[in-house]
Amino acid sequence: MKYRLLGKTGWKVSVLGLGASPLGGAFGPVDEKEGIRTVKTAIDLGINFIDVSPHSGSTRAESILGKALREIPREKFLLATKVGRYGPGAKDLDYSASRVIAGVDESLKRLKLSHIDLIQCHDIEFAPPGMLAEETLPALQKLKAIGKVRHIGITGFPLEALKKATEKGTLDTVQSYCHYCLTDITLVRLVQHLKTRNVGIINASPFAMGLLTPKGPPVWHPAPADYRDVCAAAVEHCRKRRRELPKLALQFATSNRDIATTLVGTSSAKKLKQDVAWIEEPIEEGLLAEVQQVLKPILNRPWAGSLETAP
Ligand code: NAD
Repeated sequence: MKYRLLGKTGWKVSVLGLGASPLGGAFGPVDEKEGIRTVKTAIDLGINFIDVSPHSGSTRAESILGKALREIPREKFLLATKVGRYGPGAKDLDYSASRVIAGVDESLKRLKLSHIDLIQCHDIEFAPPGMLAEETLPALQKLKAIGKVRHIGITGFPLEALKKATEKGTLDTVQSYCHYCLTDITLVRLVQHLKTRNVGIINASPFAMGLLTPKGPPVWHPAPADYRDVCAAAVEHCRKRRRELPKLALQFATSNRDIATTLVGTSSAKKLKQDVAWIEEPIEEGLLAEVQQVLKPILNRPWAGSLETAP
């Protein structure tokens, strides 16, 4: 496993991080024991960065993760979770200071931890205007001062929102999803802005939330039908060439040195072992060029963000 520096946190994080939203059922039913095994496998394979949120499975992902973490020495992992989203709908959004403070305590309890390494304001595009600066972040700063959280970051889909929120350079990390993978590389437009402010870059969803896998995306996936068809054609192209699209997708997403870590979502120990083995191998440049050609019609094409976007 390779490790890269995550901005001003000073942490050396594994280039592959474990995204724990599938523990909440975002990609299908979850066997709790297998989920716990997956987390332990991650640590055994050298993964030291785990991301979750209370939103995933309406707190189920955090609860299962907590059961796994209590059996793992605390110094073996850096744990990132979120505030602001607590369930699937608009009614479950709350970025107020009081909810942030209560939310962190609830997450600590579910995760069975005494502190959170990285707390992130979840999907900042859904926060009411002004609230992030006036309530959410000041509340997180207070929690940092008393040691409940160590570093503060944000997550979200629209890159302009991430750019605006990091203008002052006070945040430690940014987590972007589906913007640095085979279908979309627009995160590179933000790299210089974040690097000059020493904001650590976390890249989520190397398979574009399932689009770049043979199983395909889950029903809640926001990509339109033609977008899905092009991804399915790329899967088929690799199948005919006796190759696997997820392997190429993961190698591609983890190859950019400006990105500290890429979060892969899985609740299967077997898949995670495969993921880690894949990134140890060099990328097949010829296959990459072929697949990029297949995906060209949709490259960097945005889809409408949606509250129903599960992870
Ligand atoms: P992803 O792109 O990692 O895709 C997950 C899918 O890939 C699952 O169906 C999984 O079974 C499959 N997969 C994993 N390994 C595989 C393998 N070897 N072979 C075939 N299929 C494989 O999507 P994701 O889970 O949405 O993203 C990863 C993580 O990023 C999340 O768990 C979460 O931690 C984070 N994330 C955060 C936000 C946010 O903050 N708004 C949004 C999206 C993702």
